[in-house]
Amino acid sequence: MQFEKLTLYTRYDLDTPDITQRSILYCLEPIGVGTPKCESLISYLIRLAETHCVIPEKLLKYQIYPLFWGHDDVSTHSQGIIRRIFKSHHNIKTLNLSGWYTSKLVESLELLTLHKDLTCLTMMHWQELINHVHFWSYYKAWCPLCYDYWRSYNLPIYEPLLWCFEPVIICEHHHSPLVTQCPHCNHQSVMITATSRHGYCNHCGQWLVDKEKLSLSSLSAVETALQLDLIKILGSLIAFTPEAKKSAKKTFYKQVIAYFQLQELATIELSNRQISSKPIYKSMTHTGRTVQDFWRALSPMALNHAFIY
Ligand SMILES: [Zn+2]
Ligand SMILES: [Zn+2]
Repeated sequence: MQFEKLTLYTRYDLDTPDITQRSILYCLEPIGVGTPKCESLISYLIRLAETHCVIPEKLLKYQIYPLFWGHDDVSTHSQGIIRRIFKSHHNIKTLNLSGWYTSKLVESLELLTLHKDLTCLTMMHWQELINHVHFWSYYKAWCPLCYDYWRSYNLPIYEPLLWCFEPVIICEHHHSPLVTQCPHCNHQSVMITATSRHGYCNHCGQWLVDKEKLSLSSLSAVETALQLDLIKILGSLIAFTPEAKKSAKKTFYKQVIAYFQLQELATIELSNRQISSKPIYKSMTHTGRTVQDFWRALSPMALNHAFIY
């Protein structure tokens, strides 16, 4: 057979192409990082399980447990997987706060999803300021109006970190009371169980909103104003977390902590006249100026995000 003209093809490129690192699990985007509406670490874990169409038990048993304890879970123990990993109520209660279990859970989820900012879903960066365990609720609290809104607009259902603080009892958006009991079976739900699903009761499995049973706030105007102040402080800290992570801002945030600690000292001083108030107020005036800058820097950010769903 005769060929008048042969086609010249380009040579195969035998070099291995650059392929970015693949994550083991879906690289789920956390909700609201850098805003007061940022979701909690436990909320992220539950949504990650939902994204893979499994219950949290499966994710915890087959992916998280080996990363925590260096071997597979072959236990025949009757304790559930949550207790086998996190060992105690105290450790579960503080998972969204800080401590070894929080760090290990962040590390495990970052390894599985390749997300690098999951510490922002905790209060790890503010542990010097908020280290009181009683500040944290073991049970879930939720705003039925927020759940209802998110569901009707097909938005993801999640749990903001703000709702995990025991002293926060109203919704920052609707100013209505956060609910802690299922409207159908009256049970409280712990933060995470083997079958947790956002928006649904851990006990009866029903949707956690019953519009006919919604209660209006029974708080006085003064109590509501105090709640909103508390929410403003905590929400601002949550929104500021990604900034606080940056080393250049470390001094700044240490000063904010100092301010809050001094405020606490001032409260003690009011009940103990033997302590001289002068040095305390002098220090507060100094750091107070920094705090004014802190609020100024935060308020546009907080306002931008406060009313956006
Ligand atoms: Zn709400
Ligand atoms: Zn229920």
